[in-house]
Parts: sequence; structure tokens; C-alpha cells
Amino acid sequence: MRIALFNDYRIGSVNGSRVADITEVVDTRWHGTPYVINEFIAHWDQINPSISAAMDRADTHELAGVRLLPPVPRPGQILAAPANYRAHVSEMTGSRHRPANAQALLSPREVGFFVKSPGSVSGPSDAIELPPIPGRSFHHEVELGVVIGKPARGISRERAREHIFGYLVLLDMTMRTDGEHQEERTMRKSFETFTPIGPFLVTADEIADPTALRLRLWVNDELRQDADTADLIVGVDELIERASAVVTLQPGDIYATGTPDGVGPVEAGDTVRAGIDGLGEMSIPVTERGW
Ligand code: MN
Repeated sequence: MRIALFNDYRIGSVNGSRVADITEVVDTRWHGTPYVINEFIAHWDQINPSISAAMDRADTHELAGVRLLPPVPRPGQILAAPANYRAHVSEMTGSRHRPANAQALLSPREVGFFVKSPGSVSGPSDAIELPPIPGRSFHHEVELGVVIGKPARGISRERAREHIFGYLVLLDMTMRTDGEHQEERTMRKSFETFTPIGPFLVTADEIADPTALRLRLWVNDELRQDADTADLIVGVDELIERASAVVTLQPGDIYATGTPDGVGPVEAGDTVRAGIDGLGEMSIPVTERGW
């Protein structure tokens, strides 16, 4: 199922160019709030059998006529993998943006995850807003985002898939360090609108093999990143095993699995287009922040 969150936090099932409003499957007290999707995910086993009846009764809309929101506007946690594609590690090693801390170039197997502020989430209809910090560069990173379904604590990699609800396209926007400034990674990646997600949340049953998905990102139609999740150093299942040994992952939490090589700067006026096989594509303008 391709799930869209749209307009005033309506939940939609997307089929081609149409979206069917199935918000009624979630308890009414959550309607009109961003948490309606967290409830949908957390109670999926109970909700799933009622979906086809809800679809029969549903109001449907043209996808082009609704405002798409981030599919999970309020994840409790956003975990993220540092350097997790071999070619990206080499790229960063040779770059002037090379972190002062060499630890940042080790894989999630050595250094685990970092976190981004959940407040950095934005959606497919929102611009990426660059903060007014002169002389700094802001890079795009396209990543496979994994959305947790069932609470995961101390889960082995063999059972990790049972705890995955679905997948989405995620951009891990980043202010790079430079010679003078070495701010915390958490802050550099947590500016508002620095985690665009969408356009849909696609349930795991639709993605036969998350270890073989092509990711691509264009800036103004120039292809910048083009890779396959087969090249992940630490795969999705092992990422969940390692993270769930640290903290319980909850329904709606998001794991950004790392970016391949080809990262580069964006500027106000650019358009970033990013897509992953089976998950859809987002086209997002880059602007200067207005506040
Ligand atoms: Mn990243």
C-alpha cells in the first residue's frame, strides 16, 4: 500500500493518480493531528482488515489536487547512519569538507548511528529553506528511509523485518563543516526542512527486496547521485539490530540509512529531485529561509 498524508492530516491510499481517504480507520480523537499516522502505524494489525471496507466508502481525490504532507510528520526519533556506502567514504576522505573528527568516516558498524531532530522533518510540498549563514555550503544526501512498525528492542537482524512498517525517500540535508567551523553534526543536520520525506510511505510488503533499490538525485535535472542499496556497507537489518540494542525503536520512528557518493551543494533557486525504485519521487525547491 502507498500511503499519503494530505491536506489537514487525512490518510490516503494512493492508486495511480488517485488517492482514497481512509482516515476513518483511525480513532477519531487523532483526526486533524499529525499523530494520526503514528496511530495508524502502531495499530496496523487491527486496522489492516478494515481497510478494504474503508476504501469502498472512501472519498477519492486527484493526487494532483491535494497538498501532500510529510508521511510521518512527528517521528519520535530519527536515527541516521553515517558513511554507509563505500564510494561515499572515499569521496569524503578526499574532500575539503572532510570532518576534523576521522571517526565520522567509519561505518555504522564501528560508530553506530547519530540522530537528527524530528523537528527537521518536512514534506514533498515544502521547500528546503537554507538558513542565513554566509559562506557555508549545504549538501544534499538522498537516502532510503526505513519506518519502524512494531516496537523493536534487542532485535536480531534475522527478525528485523518484522519490525519494519515501510519505506520512503528521505533527504538528509547537511550544513558542511569548514576550516573555521566544526559544529556538531546533530545541529548541522537539524535545521528546519533539512529532512524532507515522501512523497508516500510504502508498506514493506510492496518492496520485495530493500537491499536492491536504485536511488537517484538530480539538481536542476543534473544527475548527482545514482546508486543501489546493494552497496550499503551495513544493511537495513543489521542497522536495526544495532540500534535496537541501544534504544527501543517505536512505531513511526525513522532510520535514515546513509547516502551514496555524489553529494554536493545546493543553493537558493535550485530544484532537488529525488527518487527510489518503488517509493516514488519528490521535486523540491531550495529557497532562502524567510525568518
Ligand atoms: Mn546522511
